[in-house]
Amino acid sequence: MKALCQTVVAFFLAAQGVFAAERPNLIFILTDDVGYGDVGCYGATHVKTPNIDRLAKEGTKFTDAHATASVCTPTRYAFMTGRYAWRQPGTGIAAGNAPALIKPGTVTVPSLLKQAGYATGLVGKWHLGLGEGPTDFNGEIKPGPLELGFDYAFFIPATGDRVPCVFVENHRVFGYDPADPIQVSYGKKIGDEPTGKDPEVKLKIRPGPGHFDTVVNGVSRIGFMTGGKAARWVDEDIADTLTTRAVQFIESHQKGPFFLYLATHDIHEPMVPHPRFRGTSDCGWRGDVIHQLDWTVGQVLATLDRLKLTGNTLVIFTSDNGGAIKNTYDDGTNPLHARQKPNAGLRDFKGSLYEGGHRIPFIARWPEHIPAGRVSTQLIAHVDVLATVAALTGQKLPAEAGPDSFNVLPAWLGLKTDTPARDHLVLQNNGQRPLALRQGQWVLIETGAQSRNGTKAAPGYELYNLADDPAELHNVAEAQPERIKRMSEELERLRTAGRSRP
Ligand code: CA
Repeated sequence: MKALCQTVVAFFLAAQGVFAAERPNLIFILTDDVGYGDVGCYGATHVKTPNIDRLAKEGTKFTDAHATASVCTPTRYAFMTGRYAWRQPGTGIAAGNAPALIKPGTVTVPSLLKQAGYATGLVGKWHLGLGEGPTDFNGEIKPGPLELGFDYAFFIPATGDRVPCVFVENHRVFGYDPADPIQVSYGKKIGDEPTGKDPEVKLKIRPGPGHFDTVVNGVSRIGFMTGGKAARWVDEDIADTLTTRAVQFIESHQKGPFFLYLATHDIHEPMVPHPRFRGTSDCGWRGDVIHQLDWTVGQVLATLDRLKLTGNTLVIFTSDNGGAIKNTYDDGTNPLHARQKPNAGLRDFKGSLYEGGHRIPFIARWPEHIPAGRVSTQLIAHVDVLATVAALTGQKLPAEAGPDSFNVLPAWLGLKTDTPARDHLVLQNNGQRPLALRQGQWVLIETGAQSRNGTKAAPGYELYNLADDPAELHNVAEAQPERIKRMSEELERLRTAGRSRP
């Protein structure tokens, strides 16, 4: 049996050249704050996601895939670089005027694909810092995505709930008016004007907890941006704008090969659905923006169908961290949001080291090579995309690149191998500590300075057996001192080793 598996692996390695010659298009759809249970094919019943479900029907759905962190910036850093973000201080949730967190010259997913002859585009949320910091949005804004391998970029600098509330196209604010210069603050308030243009959303302004002291739908932007009035986005139009840009990028590069990194704003706060989606779910605006997200995915798939690109385009659908429910809405829909359980019974939410913080939907569709309608239980993570894409395009990663990125192409393709794609994975929340170590069915979680959604505990460890206890209800640390010792020592070794890639 072992010999047979090795034969399969050998065949696979030989086949990599074939894949490189095929040069499939790649669309990586990284959604925001969509939890493990937030789409129909992962069990959601209060929202309808026929387009995302179509991807699962025509591709492979992974049940043990993880964002490498439980919040935005470190997950995106790990995806782009193949390196755990906790290895670099300052990669926690970035301010909207933070400096570029990835140094130009770093080997990234887009730079690797560009080297293989791909046209590379970013449409959507960036949140990895820009320029030297604090970013000046009134001139040429760099370094940024274009200095890291993208040929084209149309993006939200940070997130929808952070200033500046403008899009950047390549190196400039889109729609910039030099007569109305932009100023943003991540300290003192510099005004009291709302940042968006949405009349309905303004009605929902109320004081409350947030990053600062005033919020829109739980979101703190008011008073921290002045100028750039003509360039400001309309929250309810963001999905339409990004979808249009994504479709245009595919159309412009249909001769291929192309790589589109579509980082949706949905379903991050402030969760303002376009009016045509409002009330379409029975769980408030949170459900409605899931419908809006599904529409975006549908537009992308319809474009591939129309241009006859479906067969040789690898589409990945995933999320940057687990889901969350926030009761900060003034639109009367708070009680409805919780009808849709974001993480399908996994413990905790976005911002946590428990499974609800980082286990996410991950679907891969490539009709010519990935099995349809299959479910994979392989352990994989976003940090693996770099090494996997290198294998897909027949490139050897330089020794210093992607130090934590594993080639999981056999798992994506549903090939049988005699070892799992990954034998371990390190997970983080927002900073250098605490971390969690996954090994097989076991997960060791450092406690102490716990996640923002987690409970505080004395420094130590929790241990869960995910095979018996996927909801992490039973901490078995006390009964397993030997395992705690082995795993905690291994975590320390990984922490100091600087790399984990074989
Ligand atoms: Ca997120």
